[in-house]
Amino acid sequence: MLSVNTVTITVGKKTIFSDFSLSMAPCSVHLLVGPNGAGKSSLAYALIGHPSYVVTQGTLILNGQDITTSTPDVRARLGLFLAFQQPCAIPGVTVFELLTQAYRELVGISGAYESNVDLRVRVGAVLEKVGLPAAYADRAVNEHFSGGEKKRLELAQLLFFKPKLAILDEIDAGLDAQGIDLIVDCIRMLQRENAATAFLVITHSPALIAALAPAPVHELPGHG
Ligand code: ADP
Ligand code: MG
Repeated sequence: MLSVNTVTITVGKKTIFSDFSLSMAPCSVHLLVGPNGAGKSSLAYALIGHPSYVVTQGTLILNGQDITTSTPDVRARLGLFLAFQQPCAIPGVTVFELLTQAYRELVGISGAYESNVDLRVRVGAVLEKVGLPAAYADRAVNEHFSGGEKKRLELAQLLFFKPKLAILDEIDAGLDAQGIDLIVDCIRMLQRENAATAFLVITHSPALIAALAPAPVHELPGHG
């Protein structure tokens, strides 16, 4: 489903790492580990097409399609999703607007029509699932959210968008032990509902790594 083939990733003039490869099958869970600064988040950004993180060597292939130079919206429609390590606040845009407008863009006009009332119910359900009050639907995205609440909102987006390949970048950071159970629960739930979903999980947490075992581990060595 995903092949990263001997890629070099560059930001500006700086090469973050070179010659990195990995390959993932549908429905698999893979771990990406490595010291701080090794380039894990840079790989995540390069995978979703962040314009600053450029693949200068090698290729990214998603379900047989070369996405090395595709724009982020194209990659998202192909089913790629990133839960950010440090989600940003979007003042003026509510959680409901973010989830539903992004969802409509993802499914396009060919997608099944859902009324605002139906969407409200579905947004409420994912917020409840991740442990956020339903009233958060009407709050500005991540504005004055705690670190843990931001991570829960990333999980809510994961459940709402049902991607084919989800990259979770330190999704456990800021969550307690129950948070680890929630992450595993969300992964298992999506795998049940949407059998093809694969996960690339970036983490330093021994508890999360143990909970997801056995999962292939890829390491970015860093320079240390
Ligand atoms: P990790 O997620 O493994 O901790 P990052 O991908 O965040 O590592 O960072 C890898 C390296 O790339 C670090 O040295 C970091 O300072 C550098 N880096 C990341 N993003 C940028 C950027 N936008 N501009 C310059 N350097 C960057
Ligand atoms: Mg990182």
